[in-house]
Amino acid sequence: MSNMREEDVIRCSFCGRTAHEVTSMVAGPEVYICDRCINDASGIVRTDSTGPLPATAKRPAGASPSRERMSPAEMKAALDEYVVGQDAAKKALSVAVYNHYKRIDAAEYFSDFHDVELEKSNILLIGPTGTGKTLLARTLARVLDVPFSISDATALTEAGYVGEDVESILAHLLNAADFNVERAERGIIYIDEVDKVARKADNASITRDVSGEGVQQALLKILEGTVAGVPPKGGRKHPEQSLINIDTSNILFICGGAFDGLNEVVSRRISNNAIGFTADSTQKIDKFDPSIFQHVEPDDLLRFGLIPELVGRLPVISALNNLSEDAMRSILREPKNALLKQYQKLFAMDGIELSFNDGAVEAIVKKAKALNTGARGLRSVLEDTMLDIMYDIHSKNNVARCIITRETVESKAEPTFEPNKATS
Ligand code: ADP
Repeated sequence: MSNMREEDVIRCSFCGRTAHEVTSMVAGPEVYICDRCINDASGIVRTDSTGPLPATAKRPAGASPSRERMSPAEMKAALDEYVVGQDAAKKALSVAVYNHYKRIDAAEYFSDFHDVELEKSNILLIGPTGTGKTLLARTLARVLDVPFSISDATALTEAGYVGEDVESILAHLLNAADFNVERAERGIIYIDEVDKVARKADNASITRDVSGEGVQQALLKILEGTVAGVPPKGGRKHPEQSLINIDTSNILFICGGAFDGLNEVVSRRISNNAIGFTADSTQKIDKFDPSIFQHVEPDDLLRFGLIPELVGRLPVISALNNLSEDAMRSILREPKNALLKQYQKLFAMDGIELSFNDGAVEAIVKKAKALNTGARGLRSVLEDTMLDIMYDIHSKNNVARCIITRETVESKAEPTFEPNKATS
């Protein structure tokens, strides 16, 4: 700042070009915008009403971190590399996230839009455990290169003073952002098990109901946007502690839960609505229909026990399906960091080629299905299968290849070992 000459140079606040590098510069109170950025920005505004243009053509350089402005299709394609299936959820997320960052940019860079306020679109993901809710949220943050943290709504239920504890959610994010407040304020927070803080009309424990609602109220505050004083190290606030202020209005919250029992609420509503109509296709959806959560409406969530204000703050609702055996097989083999690839890498580092034959993959999927924890079961089955092998393999001489078979998975039979041909 001591450089006098630098101070005198007028630069575009968006791209940093100097007045000499551009044709014209428009000045506002303490900001400047060059003709190039005006051009780019008007491209964005036009695009927003007419559909996407090529992403690079419309972005004012430096106006917003470019990865946050990937198009929904680009975002979905990036998610596809890590998450198998769940196309409906991926699409809903991509569009919601695209709009979310557009909304932030509108507030920051396009003051003309003040008359139409874009509301924040936090997201609710509904789906059985182990179907990819957390993975989707985590992958999004990774793809967008924004800080990401996970918190569990049930942890908030257990600690009595909920009003204070909710800020620990923000402390996690701040931590993930390496204490860069500005980055944290554009981050993504995944709150797991929100279904567990629903009040239940027929719940025997009254105290649990009350604290559940208390947590919902506290969550509501940070979801809708507030400036919260966050203890930098997390935990409880202490009177003598200095707090870091975090504005949550641009933080994207993704809430997730399995919502056991919501299927009954939805099917009851649908069958009630169907009375009086003939041969309505929705009439056929019963509570065991795998696609039942695709039909969830805000009303169902109220009946499930979420408070109306919280439901109002989660305008994007998307459902994840139970994973088919086909999807489980793909999860083992295909994503960028697929489980089988991870083990193969571990073995390759020891100079051993690891493979799983088709029978082995079938057996892993079958065992995992029986655990009823979605794709999470795949990891536990694999860990159980591979532990002894990884323990013993170093005591064997000259192993070049290790082939895991159905029997290895089903009954811990020894895998097929092949020696290095050159030395055998
Ligand atoms: P939940 O829906 O309970 O949040 P997670 O996203 O934590 O489930 O999934 C647990 C693990 O299972 C993930 O780390 C990932 O390895 C795997 N997994 C679950 N669903 C998928 C999916 N659709 N595609 C790829 N991997 C998945």
